[in-house]
Amino acid sequence: MLHGYTPAHRFLPYLSWTDVAALPDKANTVVVLPVGAMEQHGPHLPCSVDATIAAGVVGHALARLAAQVPAYAMAPIVYGKSEEHLHFPGTVTLSGETLLATMLEIGESVYRSGFRKLLWVNGHGGQPQVLEMAARELRLRHGDFIVVPSSTWRVPHVAGQYLSEREKKLSMHAGHAETAIMLALAPETVRMEQAAANYPPAFPSRLLSPDGRPACAWTARDFGPSGVIGDPTPATAAQGLAILDSLAESWASAIAELHALQWAPREASTWGRGQHQGHVEPTPV
Ligand SMILES: [Zn+2]
Repeated sequence: MLHGYTPAHRFLPYLSWTDVAALPDKANTVVVLPVGAMEQHGPHLPCSVDATIAAGVVGHALARLAAQVPAYAMAPIVYGKSEEHLHFPGTVTLSGETLLATMLEIGESVYRSGFRKLLWVNGHGGQPQVLEMAARELRLRHGDFIVVPSSTWRVPHVAGQYLSEREKKLSMHAGHAETAIMLALAPETVRMEQAAANYPPAFPSRLLSPDGRPACAWTARDFGPSGVIGDPTPATAAQGLAILDSLAESWASAIAELHALQWAPREASTWGRGQHQGHVEPTPV
């Protein structure tokens, strides 16, 4: 079914237009959009990883959300900006411009429906910049629109207790954490017998890269032929379930906080971009 990991009663597309029109407190109802990608994740994982994780974490978060908190998931965006993986077959990429336009147009549609709180939970490391640009633009257009451009892994979770120091430092793609959570969310798509480690060299300039991660722009093939950047081999389903559980718990709390959050609304700018009225202080709740 289209709702996937999300409980059917929390899935916005299952509402009729009259249902949406009649929702009692749309201004504080949280609309959550999982944002994924369709790109290679090595030989052992499917190309859907980022879409599966974003939709899976959002679905599990909504499943444990307190009944009195109004929140709905949208159908996930399954194609993202994955140009760094386009040398590998199976990768499907939008341009940055297309993704930016997509986020803006979806955001406008959510606003037009009467919602004022929109949360993006992004599962792909190659596109947070685009989402941040789109969220800022929507805020400029609509001074009463709260748009949160966040990422799946940004909230507290327990993955760190399973990862080696090297993995924490250098893993970037299809490594231990992503493989573990995929073993929890979609075990039938994971082929652990094909999992193999592949680490990038630590970046040689301490000034350009204090943490050793590549300071230059890169594409996945720069690190070797497999597409993996990290070590997926220690991943287990039990770890994945614990990681998923911790992410879902944190996101459920974050959604409840967003429901309660009040920001001082600003007049929508009539002057055009870049001339809006200063910044907005968050109001404690
Ligand atoms: Zn990924």
